[in-house]
Amino acid sequence: MGSSEIAVAVVRRWLALALEVITAHEEELGRLDAAAGDGDHGATMVRGLRAANAAVEKTSDGAGRLLIEAGAAFSDASGGASGALIGALLSSAGRVLDDGPFDTATATKALQAGLSMVMRLGKAQPGDKTLVDALKPFVDALAAQPADQPLLAAWRAALPAAQAGAAATREMVAKRGRSAKLGERSLGHADPGATSLVYLLQAMETALAEECG
Ligand code: ADP
Ligand code: MG
Repeated sequence: MGSSEIAVAVVRRWLALALEVITAHEEELGRLDAAAGDGDHGATMVRGLRAANAAVEKTSDGAGRLLIEAGAAFSDASGGASGALIGALLSSAGRVLDDGPFDTATATKALQAGLSMVMRLGKAQPGDKTLVDALKPFVDALAAQPADQPLLAAWRAALPAAQAGAAATREMVAKRGRSAKLGERSLGHADPGATSLVYLLQAMETALAEECG
């Protein structure tokens, strides 16, 4: 398989695994969101990922195009703050992920573009108790990997930064989104969006291990 075919296989497998892992944690994510939000985060993510999977079934383009389609379908189907933000994250990353080398440098650039878009749209800064608190440490850790490090190894090395970032949201008071209104009530509970983002990143680790390990 050429590098662009591997990228297509990884994106497809990732979306399928993401749906599995988020479905398995749907209740947990709902409970976390109920602490200070409206309790719908698990359901929102499942709906978005179902639509994203359906969208890529209909497309036979490159990996970047698949992610753009997946992001649009995710936003349309899931609604809510996280739906728009995660949809934009996927689509922005897709616009960078061309059919060139599918490697650590390209994945880093794609995720940096996704993170910038999320922060521009949602205006959340690190420490505001959002998915940015898991995504930004991950992207920074990925960018710190040697550019010639194989993507699977680099991804694995960066994952603990996302997990630590999501865990740290327990001690934060929400400043963005619905839960900002009841900010203090969110103290002691991890942010649902940061938690689900870690599941998405873990699903990608599995997809990479299966397709290019
Ligand atoms: P809603 O808030 O519309 O009910 P969800 O419950 O699906 O949407 O998602 C809530 C999650 O979305 C939060 O836990 C947080 O991580 C993320 N989020 C909300 N607003 C923002 C924002 N402005 N910037 C970044 N992430 C945000
Ligand atoms: Mg919610």
